[in-house]
Amino acid sequence: MTQVLQQGKHIMTTFNIEQLQIELAQKNPRIILKKALELFDNIAISFSGAEDVVLIDMAVAIRKDIQVFSLDTGRLHPETYRFIEKVRKHYQIDIELLTPDREVLDSLVKKKGLFSFYEDGHQECCGIRKVEPLKRKLAHVDAWITGQRKDQSLDTRQDIPEVQIDTAFSTEEHRLVKFNPLLNWSSAQVWDYIEAYQVPYNELHERGFISIGCEPCTRAVLPNQHERAGRWWWESGAKKECGLHAGNLKK
Ligand code: SF4
Repeated sequence: MTQVLQQGKHIMTTFNIEQLQIELAQKNPRIILKKALELFDNIAISFSGAEDVVLIDMAVAIRKDIQVFSLDTGRLHPETYRFIEKVRKHYQIDIELLTPDREVLDSLVKKKGLFSFYEDGHQECCGIRKVEPLKRKLAHVDAWITGQRKDQSLDTRQDIPEVQIDTAFSTEEHRLVKFNPLLNWSSAQVWDYIEAYQVPYNELHERGFISIGCEPCTRAVLPNQHERAGRWWWESGAKKECGLHAGNLKK
């Protein structure tokens, strides 16, 4: 049994994570989000610059000043940067851009150049440009909200729950909770929502991009190809995760 203790300004809440998972299993994204925001003051949405914008759309209706961050790897498509800016203005929210450690990045680029991932895999670059900045941010929140969905990966996202202790980023001193409100929605449901509520979306989606990541590591997919086929396509193996959700990978 895992107990999570949250110490806010005026409140102290204890809950049982397994019990919470039972309560939230198969629930609508709005209900999961509402519960997450009820339980945590210091909670943030991770926004990838893709269709996970629906989380922001739902969350601002519950809490106007919701914390939102994006990983600015320095390698995103120009369209994604424009989209992040569009979302910031549309919802009138702050979007914190998390950038890589300058010295570590300089050292990688000096040693291996700008495209080393094509030669020795994406893990090192993702580690520097995504995982480390995320780790820095998550050390200062009690919980985070992701746009993970089961239908994004048949290999790595089938067994994740609606709420979990984040085993990848928790430490002995700092237990971190992760909510996955869109978990059981299909891509079609997300797009129905975007259309119905006139939610802004990344223009890359109009050009065959489904899963959107960094520009050198993402490409459009063909009809009937799975969306993850457009990510790190030069690498063999199906377990395409960049380390943000390392707990999804079975050892
Ligand atoms: S997706 Fe590609 S460019 Fe972006 S951090 Fe990972 S390896 Fe680097």
